[in-house]
Amino acid sequence: MKKYLFAGNWKMHKTQKETQQFFNEFLSKISEIDFSDREIMIAPPFTVLPIVQKLTEGTPIKLGAQNACWAKEGPFTGEISPIMLKELGVEYVILGHSERRHLFGETDEIISKRVEGVYKCGLIPILCVGETLEERKNYKTLEVVGKQLFEGLKKLEKIEAKSIVIAYEPVWAIGTGINATPEEAEQVHLFIREKLKDIFSKEIVENIRILYGGSVSPFNIKDLMKKPNIDGVLVGGASLDPYKFLEICKIRVKKEICMLPDYSAIPFEILEIPQKYKNIVIVGASPKSERPSYIVMEYLLKQGFKVVPVNPAVKEILGQKVYPSLLEIPSDFSPEVIVIFRRSDQVLPIVEAAIKLKPKVIWMQEGIVNEQAKELAEKENIKVVMNKCFKKIHLMSQKYLFK
Ligand code: PEP
Repeated sequence: MKKYLFAGNWKMHKTQKETQQFFNEFLSKISEIDFSDREIMIAPPFTVLPIVQKLTEGTPIKLGAQNACWAKEGPFTGEISPIMLKELGVEYVILGHSERRHLFGETDEIISKRVEGVYKCGLIPILCVGETLEERKNYKTLEVVGKQLFEGLKKLEKIEAKSIVIAYEPVWAIGTGINATPEEAEQVHLFIREKLKDIFSKEIVENIRILYGGSVSPFNIKDLMKKPNIDGVLVGGASLDPYKFLEICKIRVKKEICMLPDYSAIPFEILEIPQKYKNIVIVGASPKSERPSYIVMEYLLKQGFKVVPVNPAVKEILGQKVYPSLLEIPSDFSPEVIVIFRRSDQVLPIVEAAIKLKPKVIWMQEGIVNEQAKELAEKENIKVVMNKCFKKIHLMSQKYLFK
C-alpha cells in the first residue's frame, strides 16, 4: 500500500543542542501518530545527521538529507556522497529544491545527475519542482513543472521510478506563509501524475508519491491532504517546531471522493486560467453532461467563476441563462476569458465578435484553430491560449458516458 509521506526539511537550521531539544519533545509524543498509513521523515543539516540517527534509532522516523552528490567519491569539494549518507541511515534525499536551483544555480542537468546517483545508491530521491510567481502569472506553471520533471528524471531507467517521490513546491509559496490552495495544488499534482505516465507505466505512476510543499501548517494540512493526488507534504518552517510538526504529522487523512464527472478531463490550459479572472464566457456550451464544454462549465462554476454560456439552440444550462450569441450578452457583464468550443470553420466570426468585448484571454482548441483568428486577437493584445488536451477530454468524457 502506498503510504503518505510527511517530510520535514530543516534547511540550515539547528545546532546539535537544538536538535536534541527538538527530539526530546517530538519523540515524547510520537505515539500520537498513526504510522499505519504514513511515513514521517526529517531532513536535518548534514552536521546533525549522526545525532538524529542515534536519537531516532528504534523509532519509525525516517532520516533524510537535503542534497547529495551524484558520485560515490572523488574530487567534489563541498559535496556529500550518497554512500556516506546511506552509512548514516539516510533513506531519502531532497533534490532540486528551489533554494538549490535559485540561490546556488543548480540546473536541471545537475539535478538529473544527482537523481540518478542517489537512486543508484539505493536511496530515494525527492525531486522538487515548482514555478515562480512570474511564471505562474504568465501561464507557465505547467510548462515549467513539466520540463523540470522530464529533465530531472531523464537519467532514470523506466522501471526505476517505483520509489521516487516528487514534491510540487511553488516557489511563491515557500517560506512566504501563502500556500497554494488545495485546488491549485491538486491541479498541478494531477498534471504531474499525467505527465509521469508519459515516462513510466501507469501502475508505477499510481504508486509514486507526489508531495505538496509551500507554507504547510497545522491550519492548512487537513484540506490539502483531502485532495486525491496529494500523497503527503514537504514542510519547511513548520517542521522546526516539534509541536507544529507533530500536529501536521498526526492529521487524520480523509480523501475527497472524486465525483463524476471526472475533472481530470478538464483541459490543463483551462485550469491555468488565473483565479483573478472571474468572468468567463463559454461559446458553444452544451446542455449534455458528457460533453467537454458542459464538464468545463460545471467545473468553473464549482470553482466560483461567473460563467455565461452562449448557444443559439439552448435556453438554460446548469441553472444559467444561455445567450444566443456573444453580441447579446448583457452589457454589464464584461468577460475576462472567452472559451470557444467550436469547429475551426466557425471560429473566425466568433473571435471577431469576442474581440469587441475586450477579454484578457481567448481560449480555443489547438489543431482546429484558425490562424487568422489568433492573429486578429493577438493584434488587440488579447492572450490566446490553445488547448492541447482536447483528445484527452474527449476520451475522458466518453469514459464517463459509458460508465
Ligand atoms: C521548503 O522549503 O521545502 C518549504 C516548503 O518551506 P516552507 O514550508 O517554510 O514554506
